[in-house]
Amino acid sequence: MNNQSIQKLCSIPCNLCESRNIEELSLIGRERKYLRTVICKECGLIWSDPRPMDPRKYYKDKYRMEYKGVIEPKLKHIYRAGIVALDRFKKIESFLYKGAKILDIGSGGGEFMYLLTKLGYETTGIEPNIGYAKYSRREYGLNIITGLVEDIDMSASEYDVVTMWHVLEHTDNPFLVLSHINRWLKNEGTLFIEVPNVEAICQAPINRFHFAHLYSFNLKTVEKIGIKAGFYPIVQEISADGGNLFIIFQKTKVDKVQDNWKIKGNAQNIIKILKKHTNIHHYISPYPYSRFLKKIKRIINERKAIRGFSRGKEILDYYYNKEILHFKLD
Ligand SMILES: [Zn+2]
Repeated sequence: MNNQSIQKLCSIPCNLCESRNIEELSLIGRERKYLRTVICKECGLIWSDPRPMDPRKYYKDKYRMEYKGVIEPKLKHIYRAGIVALDRFKKIESFLYKGAKILDIGSGGGEFMYLLTKLGYETTGIEPNIGYAKYSRREYGLNIITGLVEDIDMSASEYDVVTMWHVLEHTDNPFLVLSHINRWLKNEGTLFIEVPNVEAICQAPINRFHFAHLYSFNLKTVEKIGIKAGFYPIVQEISADGGNLFIIFQKTKVDKVQDNWKIKGNAQNIIKILKKHTNIHHYISPYPYSRFLKKIKRIINERKAIRGFSRGKEILDYYYNKEILHFKLD
């Protein structure tokens, strides 16, 4: 087989438009190891082909261990996730209402779910990592199902709201995952999704593809895959640094099934953006330096913030109680 045909090999068809017409984007990942990343030339969806790992096994126990070197979250991780949880709540607050039944997919250490339960919402979490799921049950008394969305059997029209923060990119079949969520949501139920933006230029080009991210999205592909699964996008936002995409979807009644999921020109645009973002381009931009300073500041702040606490629940109670006063609860 010649070089050109190897570059066109595609073992997994596009999860959005089902095409096998791909272009190789990269052969190396953030870990500086072999990771083949391809883009669908018909719609712009990006994925790892072949898969670098089996997510079913990987997320059970390896992921947190390799990522953070822990089985259960440390106090600094809990504080950090607690601050993020407060920000996330502010983003979705105006869409929530009293009595809303919420499902948090990829509940991690349980910080976001714990905030929601403190505010009076009825919550369920799904978390594949055994250690983190166990910790959040024990520490905060949360209701967590251990496993992957694809393997869980849940009745239809069960939830008013589903949240999924930085999870879709880790799944093996985003369309299938979104289809399950669509079934679990009540009609006109809301789905909040945040994923990394593949077009982001706030990180070094070498750090763009991560072996735990089986898929990468831009705004157009994440929107379209949601529509394919029976949702209607009502809010789309790109974070200030360009690093994250936030989409609010509503479950709709699908009248007419669309069958063409190609997005004209999207792949070509993404390729152009990625090619322009070279190492030189990155290191003459202010991003790497401001990121470094932010990280140092964060480490110092975190050390100070967790001083005197010995448990996760104490930390979250302290910082959440300070903020909760400002939330409107009706
Ligand atoms: Zn495609």
